[in-house]
Amino acid sequence: MNTVTDYFGSLVFDDRVMKATLSAKVYASLKKTIDEGTELDIGVANAVAAAMKDWAVSKGATHYTHWFQPLTGITAEKHDSFISPSPDGGVIMEFSGKELIKGEPDASSFPSGGLRATFEARGYTAWDPTSYAFIKGKTLCIPTAFCSYGGHALDKKTPLLRSMEALNKQALRILKLFGNDSVKRVTSSVGPEQEYFLITKEMYDQRPDLRFTGRTLFGAKPPKGQEMDDHYFGVIKPRVAAFMEELNDELWKLGILAKTEHNEVAPAQHELAPIYTTTNIATDHNQLTMEIMQKVASRHGLVCLLHEKPFAGVNGSGKHNNWSIATDAGQNLFSPGATPYENAQFLLFLCAVIKAVDDYQDLLRISVATAGNDHRLGANEAPPAVVSIFLGDELNAVLEAIENDTPYKGTEKTQMKLGVDVLPKFNRDTTDRNRTSPFAFTGNKFEFRMLGSSNSIACANIMLNSAVAESLKIYADRLEGAEDFEVALHDLIQKTIKEHKHIIFNGNGYDESWIKEATEKRGLLNYHTTADCMPHLLDKKNVDMLTSHGVFTEAELKSRYEIMLENYCKTIIIEAKTMVDMAKTQIAPAIEAYTADVAKSAVAKKALDSALACSYETGVVRKLSALTDCIATKAEELEEALISLDDAEEIGAESIMIRDTVLGLMSELRVACDEAETLTAKSYWPMPSYADLLFSVK
Ligand code: ADP
Ligand code: MG
Repeated sequence: MNTVTDYFGSLVFDDRVMKATLSAKVYASLKKTIDEGTELDIGVANAVAAAMKDWAVSKGATHYTHWFQPLTGITAEKHDSFISPSPDGGVIMEFSGKELIKGEPDASSFPSGGLRATFEARGYTAWDPTSYAFIKGKTLCIPTAFCSYGGHALDKKTPLLRSMEALNKQALRILKLFGNDSVKRVTSSVGPEQEYFLITKEMYDQRPDLRFTGRTLFGAKPPKGQEMDDHYFGVIKPRVAAFMEELNDELWKLGILAKTEHNEVAPAQHELAPIYTTTNIATDHNQLTMEIMQKVASRHGLVCLLHEKPFAGVNGSGKHNNWSIATDAGQNLFSPGATPYENAQFLLFLCAVIKAVDDYQDLLRISVATAGNDHRLGANEAPPAVVSIFLGDELNAVLEAIENDTPYKGTEKTQMKLGVDVLPKFNRDTTDRNRTSPFAFTGNKFEFRMLGSSNSIACANIMLNSAVAESLKIYADRLEGAEDFEVALHDLIQKTIKEHKHIIFNGNGYDESWIKEATEKRGLLNYHTTADCMPHLLDKKNVDMLTSHGVFTEAELKSRYEIMLENYCKTIIIEAKTMVDMAKTQIAPAIEAYTADVAKSAVAKKALDSALACSYETGVVRKLSALTDCIATKAEELEEALISLDDAEEIGAESIMIRDTVLGLMSELRVACDEAETLTAKSYWPMPSYADLLFSVK
């Protein structure tokens, strides 16, 4: 077990293990279920369960769990052991097909947004055979979906699988129109690039804000931040390298294709990218990756921060969702093809995405909305909160040529003719500018860059898959009934470009002038906070689209609206309470102690020589006294604002109150504390500074 090829996937019940341990008949039947979504009969399930159990036990597993992704945003598991008593007083290891297919965790504590009455504590979990089972510690983990007894989805996997199905269905209709009859399935794939920070456990433990909220709520700017750009792609420090090495090993054993790792822009910030894979597997893998990052870090005396904005004034962490769709024959539908026909097909899929992103800007913004991510979007480091698409100059020129029936610069023909002309190969645009776009075409995939580092990628991909399925459905409805396919196709593409070109923006997304142009001239949406965007989840057009494709029921959408806003409110309330507590019990007393000592020193000096001015001491005492007063007042106001939240009648109103009062007071309290930090002797300050935190790992 030395080389990666030997141990890659060694903890996964993958195709290799299935082939080796299942009878040919059982294997064929399971494979059909995995590839085509056919139903599994109980006989096959029993055989698979037995093989899975024997394999897991041989790897040292004693327990199994249905592993699922409730709406808390993290994963959940409840372990049951395989043991069953035998008449002779011993035990046998057992696992049935029924146990594999369905589980019944006590789910009363998972958020359901009113979908499951509290007296009905149980939901059920259902096996997702398309994502391989794996072993974590001594437990066989079976990826599952999580539903209420009424059949409502209580998790992120169920709607994701439904959205993949919707996209598959509509994409197949389009492919048929282009004569691709042999394609059986179209699948979306994702490669998520994951950013994170590493700091030492020793520093972390001294900061209640990090421990309770995952981010620093106070901290004056360090003298050195990221301005030198000396961290980005820099040499990886030995302690970080040791962490990455172990992380890779752990991920590889779980069959996760961790591929690239490098330092990111901010000090102590790093990135890991896997090789892309099917969306639901990529989602499972990303959840596992985040969990294992934290575990491995702790073994190295480190803490992995996945919060979107652990440090103010320093770049936050995001997650780039590289997304494409491909046929079961491996044809990437966002790759311009070699023949004119393939090219026309490519342009139609491209237009479907342009239309989808424009029509459902709000859903894309909603899919990445959390209290944490609100700190990044629009803060000159991450893409703005305005959604737009970057296509690059070349592709843009092609679209312009089609829109206006004018010649395209790369062709000799008089005009761009669909189904006749061959498109040039679009290379990935490597200009730095495109990194500012929230949604960029990068050669053969789209990179959605608004996701926060701690977000599950499920939500973004649910919306993306569904919105594109909707465009494709409208196109298929139109084209299937067309008298002349080519004419109709040309018209459809031209119409899409005309109607939706306002979402295309190839300039600098960080530019203030862009936000002005986007909102004032182009009428694009700009939702600053989660409180602003979330109500639009229930807009009629969004409910209609998502329910018509069977991705969500209306009740499920309502519950998600509640849960997401509740999460937003709770997160900020916990932050505000932590701030008040730290300000009152740590920061103010520290400033007070230092002020008293400075004042004492002035008194002592005067006693020695009454002519001494002691203007330094007086100045410090004055400034710090004013700041402590301000801190005390702001802390009190913040406490009052928190109490008045009880008046809110429903979650939407509460989120608005938080947005309008609590956030502002939090930042005022912070400003006073941070200024005091710069005036107080370091030995008095009750917690590690930004410089200590950011440069703690050697
Ligand atoms: P960069 O940081 O330059 O954007 P990375 O190499 O860090 O690029 O990450 C690119 C990600 O895109 C990887 O996860 C990669 O597997 C993924 N990717 C590449 N091609 C595709 C594709 N066709 N569909 C989806 N994801 C893809
Ligand atoms: Mg990258």
